[in-house]
Order: sequence, then C-alpha cells, then structure tokens
Amino acid sequence: MKAHSQFTTATRHDQHGRWPQAESVDDFRHNLAIVQARIAAACQRVGRDPAAVRLLPVSKTKPESSLRLAYAAGCRMLGENKPQEAYGKWEAMQDLPDLQWSVIGHLQTNKAKLVARFATEFQALDSLRVAEALERRLQVEGRSLDVFVQINTSGEASKYGLPPEEAAAFVKALPAFSALRVRGLMTLALFSAEAAQVRQCFVRLRGLRDQLRQDAPAGICLDGLSMGMSGDYEMAVEEGATVVRVGQAIFGARAMPDSYYWPVAGECAAT
Ligand SMILES: *Cc1c(COP(=O)(O)O)cnc(C)c1O
Repeated sequence: MKAHSQFTTATRHDQHGRWPQAESVDDFRHNLAIVQARIAAACQRVGRDPAAVRLLPVSKTKPESSLRLAYAAGCRMLGENKPQEAYGKWEAMQDLPDLQWSVIGHLQTNKAKLVARFATEFQALDSLRVAEALERRLQVEGRSLDVFVQINTSGEASKYGLPPEEAAAFVKALPAFSALRVRGLMTLALFSAEAAQVRQCFVRLRGLRDQLRQDAPAGICLDGLSMGMSGDYEMAVEEGATVVRVGQAIFGARAMPDSYYWPVAGECAAT
C-alpha cells in the first residue's frame, strides 16, 4: 500500500474534550454508527474492505453504568488504559461473561498478574521484562493473551513504546513466550493538529510492520496495526489500521487530561 498523502483528512484533535456524553443506549448506537460510517468511508477512499478494520471502544475513566449502556448497544470488547481500573470493572461486570477486555496502556511488571487473569488482549507490550512477567502469570492461570508490540513512532521521549530500530530484535525474542499470541504493532500518533505529522506516524508504523514481516520468526504474526483514536482514526484507516481505539467519540469527552495516561516530558504521571 502506498502513502495516501493526497488525502486531506484533518485531525480532530482541536475538538478534544468537546464530545457530548453518551447517556443512553441510543446515544451509544448513534455514536457507534457514526464512527463505523466514517471508518467505511475512509476504507472506500483507499480501496480497503471495512471488515478488515476492528473498532475497539475505549471506556477508560467512564463509570460502570456507562459501560453497561455500551454493552447494550452491542459492544463486546472494551479498551481500558490502566490495569487496575480495568480489573475492577471486569470484577464488577462478571454477569456479562461475553464482554472481553483489551488493556491498551503501559503495564508495570507488578500488574502483570491482574492482566493475566482477565484480559483477552494487551496492546502495549514494549519490554521483555513485561513479556516474562505476563508469560509466568498466564502459565499459572492456564490462559493466553493476544498482544500488540507498542512502537514509539512520534519520537517524543514522553511516549511509551519501543524505538522503531529496536523492534526487530524484540520481535525475534517473542517466540520464547508461548502464552503470548503476537498480533501486530500498536502506536500512539503525535498529538497534533498538523495532519501531515500525525499521518507520518501511521505511515511509519505500517512501513515498520511491512519490514518486520519479511523475516518474522515462525508463529509470529505481525499483520495487525492498532493505530488511530477519536481525533485521527479516519487517517489511520487510510494508512492501513486494522484496529482503531476510539473512546471520546463513542463515550463522550473525558474530564481527565491525557497527560494522566501518557506522561508528558518533565511531568510525572500518577500510576
Ligand atoms: C484513551 C486512549 C485511546 C482513545 O482515546 P480517545 O481520544 O478517547 O479516542 C486510544 N489509545 C490509548 C492507548 C488510550 O489510552
């Protein structure tokens, strides 16, 4: 696939914090339909099949009542940034056994135990220490986990993820972890209203994936590209995203600043 820089799709980062709260099942249905339609339109612009793009609704900071509305509107997998918060929600919603959880935020080894217990998917793998901790706990639980390797495509020191140049060696070490099913790469784009710079992050992730795929170890699948959020998912789809992680455009704006999730240089995030 070539770069689609001829498209003028803008980011919606300037709209940040202005999405209305979803307060009913109908609100969720409406928001989900809009996002799905925009994904389909983006696919059409570049000749992709919309069925190849999975929408992962992100429910972080939202209360259980809101997650239940999303479930009633049809959501069967939810993304959460913080393992502790996700675990608490999973515990509280045991009456919905077909609701699955994707942990999309940074993991410390001491929280691997939680994630191994309930998550179906972990999208922020960026160290062998975390891979080892997850593997050990998953063996104990008799479970396996779908994982995405997080790559820092923005060059921002404040963002988590492996530098692209370390990805090849990292991927070569992954077959040692039999409970981890590698599905692809994940990234957080530059948070910017400069569409061209945001798009560059997505192009970079796709290029890295194509390059790594050429000599990936047996059993390691790198087809997946998890990229794009409320402000930039259409552009991510144009550039090949197979998973988009969308929170505010479905649930409504969050009160918490994003620096709470992604430490900003010079700041120390609460964990
Ligand atoms: C919160 C979050 C998202 C979704 O962001 P929105 O602006 O709510 O769409 C996507 N990815 C990660 C890693 C997140 O923490």
